[in-house]
Amino acid sequence: MSDKIEAVKKLFTSKSSRVETNKGDAYYQELFQKCEARLNEMRAMEPTNRVDFSELLEENGIDRREFMKWASATTAMLMLPPMFTPLVADATLLMNRAPVIWLELQDCAGNSEALLRADGPKIDEIVLDIISLEYHETLQAAAGYQAEKQLDEAMEHFKGKYLLFVEGSVPMGMNGQYGTIGAKAETFHDHLVRCSENAAAVVAVGACATFGGVPAASPNPTGAVGVMEVVKNKPIINIPACPANPANMVGVILHYLLTGQVPELDSLLRPKFAFGYRIHDNCERRAHFDAGEYVEEWGDKGAQNNFCLYKMGCKGPMTFNNCSIVRYNEAINWPIGVGRGCIGCSEPDFWDKYAYERPMADAKIKAPTGGVEKTVDEFGLGMLTAVGIGIGIHAAASAVAGKREKSGESHE
Ligand code: SF4
Ligand code: SF4
Repeated sequence: MSDKIEAVKKLFTSKSSRVETNKGDAYYQELFQKCEARLNEMRAMEPTNRVDFSELLEENGIDRREFMKWASATTAMLMLPPMFTPLVADATLLMNRAPVIWLELQDCAGNSEALLRADGPKIDEIVLDIISLEYHETLQAAAGYQAEKQLDEAMEHFKGKYLLFVEGSVPMGMNGQYGTIGAKAETFHDHLVRCSENAAAVVAVGACATFGGVPAASPNPTGAVGVMEVVKNKPIINIPACPANPANMVGVILHYLLTGQVPELDSLLRPKFAFGYRIHDNCERRAHFDAGEYVEEWGDKGAQNNFCLYKMGCKGPMTFNNCSIVRYNEAINWPIGVGRGCIGCSEPDFWDKYAYERPMADAKIKAPTGGVEKTVDEFGLGMLTAVGIGIGIHAAASAVAGKREKSGESHE
């Protein structure tokens, strides 16, 4: 795994893929001091989750050296200079002070599934095991009135401090009646509004929670929208993709823990550290694109030689995401790596705009964040003519009640 971490770090710090920040030394010195003070504050706080991070690392065969390499790669991913590495490592150890409440609305549970089903978790997933996950509508054992009580207590206890993670879109049709939750049949809309009221920030996770995703695809029968269309009075951080990458969830929580602020966001409220990269610019098949070598048909010689997938409908040229760098499943691979073109899952309306297997040379769609040099039409044609409930995410067995028992805390 260590080699993969090194490779990821190299990619994040390489000149071609680096996202420029235009920040000077004075800015980072000030930020460093602020982060140190914040970590001291966190150290003084009682952890709400007693899971021992060092023990988890040991159980998974990860030594201190490897952890520090991960911290160094994560520092680079967060667009911070190397001097922040020890602070990132310390913040990771303090992640059990970060209360998280997780709502699940109109979706397929793919983001929760992605976390649960990772086997042999790498450090990002282990970190997610130690956050203080106070409530998760899908993973928790509690149901009905007991679950509602749990949620109310967590929101009261961590008032103004918890991060509200939301997975799934919000159905607005029929006064929200397409999706209700709990014994009182609260609509997803009202549930989200109520739970966001006392959150420090709201983190929309996955394609559906950010931009509506598949439920919002034409003709959008339920009137599905993303979280930012509903929550207007809180800082919102969008982590799109289908599923969202655990590395980016960890990055957002770490950044918040370390600085007490939301990370720098693009115009779609996506953290720049994760979505400042265009797939096409960091794609291992790019040399084939430049050379005009394409897969023309599934299974042809081009496919066998890992040629560019543009003609098979790859939307990497207009998609911003770091999955080409951090990859999925212990950084083993990613969609283009296994021979499937990008379908732009981290962009708004991806299902209607991008998820079909033909190139976009005729589509005249510009990447919403800018950054693509020309319209896709010009770009493509030019090139083609050349040719709590206590969930440790993996140790989902511990219940919030049990966790609080261990910590000697009770909100009963
Ligand atoms: S079009 Fe797709 S497969 Fe080809 S280089 Fe760009 S991102 Fe990679
Ligand atoms: S390659 Fe494209 S479709 Fe696949 S996960 Fe990355 S952004 Fe989403």
